[in-house]
Amino acid sequence: HSPIHIVGGGLAGSEAAWQIASRGIRVILHEMRPVQGTEAHKTDGLAELVCSNSFRSDDAEANAVGVIHAEMRMAGSLVMRCADANQVPAGGALAVDREGFSAAVTKALEAHPLVTIDRTEVDGLPPEDWGPAIIATGPLTAPALAESIREATGKDALAFFDAIAPIVHFDSIDLSKAWFQSRYDKVGPGGTGKDYINCPLDQATYERFIAALVEGDRAEFKSWEGTPYFDGCLPIEVMAERGPETLRHGPMKPMGLTNAHAPTIKPYAVVQLRQDNALGTLYNMVGFQTKLKYGEQAEIFRMIPGLENAEFARLGGLHRNTYLDSPRLLDGELRLRSLPRLRFAGQITGCEGYVESAAIGLIAGRFAAAENRGEPISSPPVTSAIGALLAHITGGHLAHEEDGGKRSFQPMNINFGLFPPLEPGAIQKPDGVKRFRGKDKTNARKKLMSARALHDFGRWLEGTETALAAE
Ligand code: FAD
Repeated sequence: HSPIHIVGGGLAGSEAAWQIASRGIRVILHEMRPVQGTEAHKTDGLAELVCSNSFRSDDAEANAVGVIHAEMRMAGSLVMRCADANQVPAGGALAVDREGFSAAVTKALEAHPLVTIDRTEVDGLPPEDWGPAIIATGPLTAPALAESIREATGKDALAFFDAIAPIVHFDSIDLSKAWFQSRYDKVGPGGTGKDYINCPLDQATYERFIAALVEGDRAEFKSWEGTPYFDGCLPIEVMAERGPETLRHGPMKPMGLTNAHAPTIKPYAVVQLRQDNALGTLYNMVGFQTKLKYGEQAEIFRMIPGLENAEFARLGGLHRNTYLDSPRLLDGELRLRSLPRLRFAGQITGCEGYVESAAIGLIAGRFAAAENRGEPISSPPVTSAIGALLAHITGGHLAHEEDGGKRSFQPMNINFGLFPPLEPGAIQKPDGVKRFRGKDKTNARKKLMSARALHDFGRWLEGTETALAAE
């Protein structure tokens, strides 16, 4: 078999290299450090953790991150093996000694007879004579390669900053206060005139809300990030600072909306949420990108009528982050539709975080290996954590009419909102329990989704390994 080239030896590239080499195929891993650095990496180790040393929750019974850990362990992940071997105490979370972790990944790949590590910067698209290649260059992809990707994919297809509005689990929105309606009942293609969820604010609530936004603690931009306040993407708190009326004339304008619960009372301001995934389990707060600190966000956004008990699938943010408009550009196997010899993996595909990036590296590596061996490619089931994340990246995101029919794709962590809902009636009240709702019901749902994910992932894995053994 010809070797597979991987560009970027971060979380995704290292995992992809391991998965490919484990299937008997040679890998050439191109990593530019230490010849060329990034603004955040400090060492020349592979899979360097640039900030926190946490892989987040390790609870595979009721937490989506814990479930993705478990699936990766089942699939022979190098990143998880090295994380487990370098664990430091962190309660229910999996935190690691960052140097020990990165050294273990580096050592395992250096020692693998089928892996060659080439310490050079790849300054354009991988050349054709490399054959199929994986690009896993991360949120801080070096500028020359980023420019080549942009040329190949189109101006709007590669973003250099994210602008993330908070995303709320649909079933935590109080629809006795909020209501469904599109502004002026406009019916777009595929729409119903009721495509948004609207939360009404009276004047006193609005004024308190604006004051909280202005006073809220903010995360600072790193000096090298610059201040990316670009067209129409101002953080909500910066808009609030420009004057008390700014938001009421911007993303919180009440025009064209009638409160279904109180039709005669005109709302002073309205927060709109719009469906974020095809499953309808997640809604994003329209225009609410923010640099407020995470703790502050949950508290301030729960001041909004209808969102008092909101559960956030992810909070808002604004960071330097190079990522593709993947649902439009990549096929279900993470290949660039317009140039299928190139596959992408890691955070550049629009997943977010160490674990998710490594998970997408794992699946990209397996896809590339199967292709190289002439085997059929099989995707993990969408009910599994890796399958749900992959489906979100490559297709689960919705296009919106007011964005010119484009998808407003923003990076995403793994969370239960990305999983298909359970069968109706799946959540049973345990015997002897009188009141079974709210948090208890949510926990029961998470447990069932976790068990379903691990079961279905295991079945899928068995199928792929059996196919390999039979060859
Ligand atoms: P990376 O791990 O960044 O790996 C990409 C690799 O490609 C790098 O080693 C880079 O040197 C190399 N490379 C780039 N361009 C080229 C080129 N042209 N040629 C050769 N090599 C190249 N996630 C968390 O879970 N927790 C956090 O606390 C956290 N904090 C973060 C803080 C900052 C400042 C940033 C930027 C990101 C943070 N992230 C965090 C996100 C995290 O970095 C990513 O999720 C993860 O590292 C992405 O993995 P990756 O393999 O896609 O990219």
